[in-house]
Amino acid sequence: MLNIAVAGTGYVGLVTGVCMAEVGHKVTCVDHIQDKIDILNKGISPIFEPGLDELIVKNLKSKDLCFTTDFASTYAQADVIFIGVGTPENEDGSANLNYVYTVARQIAETVQRNCLIVVKSTVPIGTNEKVEAIIKEYLIHDVEVEVASNPEFLAQGTAVRDTLNASRIVIGAESDYAKETLVDIYKPFNQPILTMSRRSAEMVKYASNDFLALKISFVNDIANLCEVVGANIEEVTSAMSYDERIGNKFLNPGIGYGGSCFPKDTKALHWLSEEEGYVLRTVKAAIEVNEKQKFKLIKMARQDFTTFKNVKVAVLGLTFKPGTDDLREAPSIPNIRLLLNEGAKVHVYDPVGMENFKKLYPTEIQYEQNIMGTLKDADLCFVFTEWAEIKDMDVNLFQNYMKSPFIYDGRNCFDLVQVKEAGINYRSIGRPSINEYKVKREVSV
Ligand code: NAD
Repeated sequence: MLNIAVAGTGYVGLVTGVCMAEVGHKVTCVDHIQDKIDILNKGISPIFEPGLDELIVKNLKSKDLCFTTDFASTYAQADVIFIGVGTPENEDGSANLNYVYTVARQIAETVQRNCLIVVKSTVPIGTNEKVEAIIKEYLIHDVEVEVASNPEFLAQGTAVRDTLNASRIVIGAESDYAKETLVDIYKPFNQPILTMSRRSAEMVKYASNDFLALKISFVNDIANLCEVVGANIEEVTSAMSYDERIGNKFLNPGIGYGGSCFPKDTKALHWLSEEEGYVLRTVKAAIEVNEKQKFKLIKMARQDFTTFKNVKVAVLGLTFKPGTDDLREAPSIPNIRLLLNEGAKVHVYDPVGMENFKKLYPTEIQYEQNIMGTLKDADLCFVFTEWAEIKDMDVNLFQNYMKSPFIYDGRNCFDLVQVKEAGINYRSIGRPSINEYKVKREVSV
């Protein structure tokens, strides 16, 4: 049986390692953060990901899975090492490959067997070759190494399900040995496997993510135009989706994409294309639309409020999407920063994201226990994340709890008919705004 090591226990590395153990492989996950490893060894996931804790506990018990910070002895005994460390954005938009290159050096200095190194992190085209060159340059023991690309397509919030039922496994390798080894490893998953060159595999990941980002920005652009010309984006996208070439996924308008992938992966590919002397116009447009879309709700609110100074703001939802506690590039962050800068009193509620948000704003904002507490006496409410709990709430709560029910819904959570009946002021994305509160106030005066 192969000894598999995974470098990095974040969303990708941890889920990959755990699911590999679940299908019968022997896996050691390595991270350089001792606290993470200690929690994991207690059977607790440091990230919120449905179904993950159960699989960690089960595979720790069966001893197919272990966690350690000791990369040296782990890599020394490994036959295959997956690299799943972060590739965040540099200030200029390029991908920061320092974590990947550090792991490459660590592998070079410690491997003691012939070893296949598999890059799972999202990396610019040509990086696999550089990783192989680094490892070969710093190799200490007399062993054969080869690097293969195996980009990851899981989505946060459904990461375990996505890994156990992946749409496809992409393997970019230059030798039959590398291809066959990876095909064997993935056989128990029973998923479609596509083999290709390393450069194509690296490109598949960026092209896939950037296409999805583009789809989101396109819908947001059309939604903004719907507001101007008096159309309703929901009627538009619902009719569009009957065309199988368009489909019904990623057609929901909102306040833009966030998270740890789309923002950085669009910028990284755009940066790389410019470096190569090619202008990737479509991706550039997706980035520009997204930058503007982030602040759409604030722009809407400025039509109703001349200042946010001392205005009590209720915020429902903090994470960049439901199902995750990840706040990376969440639209809530720049919006709340702006509101605080302008003197607003901000009260927030998110079912799982508040602990992470407290690391950014420990004292400046009020963290509430539930939706009602957040809305109480608020002047206006922003909805940033479409958690089920928020989508399913009774819209009458706005009128019942808020001082003045001005709602700015960045995820089109509520039904326009119900909103109208609730007698609130409501603006959403690409749909007609509802001005019931002002009318009622005028009537009662
Ligand atoms: P993450 O930041 O959640 O996790 C990275 C982990 O690597 C951290 O736990 C960190 O401590 C650890 N690490 C850093 N240096 C290390 C080292 N030298 N040795 C061992 N561990 C080390 O990142 P992530 O979200 O899992 O993303 C990882 C990669 O996968 C990125 O390239 C990302 O673009 C890509 N990706 C992410 C997703 C996603 O949904 N998050 C999906 C597909 C692909």
